[in-house]
Amino acid sequence: MILYDVLFRGGTVVTAEKLSAADVGVIDGQIVAIESRLEGSAAEFVDASGLHLLPGIIDAHIHFNEPGREHWEGISTGSRALAAGGGTAFFDMPLNAAPPTLDRECFTRKRVCGETKSVLDFALWGGLTPINLDTMEELADAGAIGFKAFMSRSGTSDFPHSNPSVLKQGMKTAAACGLPVGVHAEDDAMTQALAEERRGQGKIKWRDYLDSRPVEAELRAIRVALELAGETGCDLHVVHVSCPEALDLVREARNRGVRVTAETCPHYLLLTDDSVGEIGASAKCAPPLRDAARREEMWERLRAGGIDTLGSDHSPAPPDMKVSKDFFAVWGGISGCQHAFTLALGEFYARAGADGLARFAAVTATRVAARFGIGCRKGRVAEGCDADITLVDLQGRERIAAGQLLYRHPISPYIGLEVRAVVRGTWVRGRAVYRDGKVAGEAGGRLLRPEPR
Ligand SMILES: [Zn+2]
Repeated sequence: MILYDVLFRGGTVVTAEKLSAADVGVIDGQIVAIESRLEGSAAEFVDASGLHLLPGIIDAHIHFNEPGREHWEGISTGSRALAAGGGTAFFDMPLNAAPPTLDRECFTRKRVCGETKSVLDFALWGGLTPINLDTMEELADAGAIGFKAFMSRSGTSDFPHSNPSVLKQGMKTAAACGLPVGVHAEDDAMTQALAEERRGQGKIKWRDYLDSRPVEAELRAIRVALELAGETGCDLHVVHVSCPEALDLVREARNRGVRVTAETCPHYLLLTDDSVGEIGASAKCAPPLRDAARREEMWERLRAGGIDTLGSDHSPAPPDMKVSKDFFAVWGGISGCQHAFTLALGEFYARAGADGLARFAAVTATRVAARFGIGCRKGRVAEGCDADITLVDLQGRERIAAGQLLYRHPISPYIGLEVRAVVRGTWVRGRAVYRDGKVAGEAGGRLLRPEPR
């Protein structure tokens, strides 16, 4: 008789293609069997009846701020919050830690933090900035999953933004390394000018901030990035796309042969510009939240397959940095990885049923893993893959309260919203990291490196 380490009984397995009722058997951290009924014994039986098994969420857009700014978040609190939200892996961005991830030494320091403190597997982005064009190769060699560049000011002086000539040079190097470049696409000159104009007139309210970062600023930058990607043969990933017009540009470029994908974030699907007025600074981000009509259209694009990946862009800060009379001076960044995905999943399921579940599995796991070259082991509930599984109760309901937030600081624009897809458990390589409302304390994260192409 086969002895499984974990045996999930009676659940519905969700893949990017379909849903099927099946048992899932795990041995040595791997999924070894998926069948309608598995016989055998197990060290751990999981009764999954009435529940859905999704491929563990891979959040390719995280700022855990470690090393150096653990008082903002940290990998320990951040990875546990994400685990509670169904996450099994995260890709940490190269900025907002101190130092930023701009060379091998910084990469190694962050890697050690991840391996000793994360309950989830993780990958690390390297930076592409004017001050580290000569260290991109060593970052690739160290295992970077890709390079992140800013086309507008990043908010921290140690991670300067790239003008088109710097970006082009960095893209050439990235292409030679076989790694993608992720861009924060907003036009710097335009956003700076609009912000200065408003602040000069004493207009410092939330709506003034939103007006200083219009859709056109995003589109201008994306046009430049797409052109440079076409010229250099670089593989481009436009992060946190906020509006359908930007997705149009990406699609047109892809039709021309440019290698490009688009990420959006749950907050562009769950909140609107008016939410910023209602909720306040915890809903400040860049690009900013857009109007309700655009949000609806983003749902349509997601449903139709026009969005490649969904990332939280979890970007927390200490409470005192989220308070100011001047909305421009408030830290921009939404703290939300614990609930962003399940809120989106519940809404997607309500809108699109089983198709919504399959699409969600694609944009949060399967396509993310394939896009970043870790698809052999990650991103699928399939035999031979790592047993990274999120167990979700679609009948469950939970009102988000500040007291249940596992972040370093109990700040989130999602407080008060109702989750309609409650996580009952999260397993990383067959190890339960979250179960029945409790996070397993042990760290054991592994660095995910892109597979050789
Ligand atoms: Zn970000």
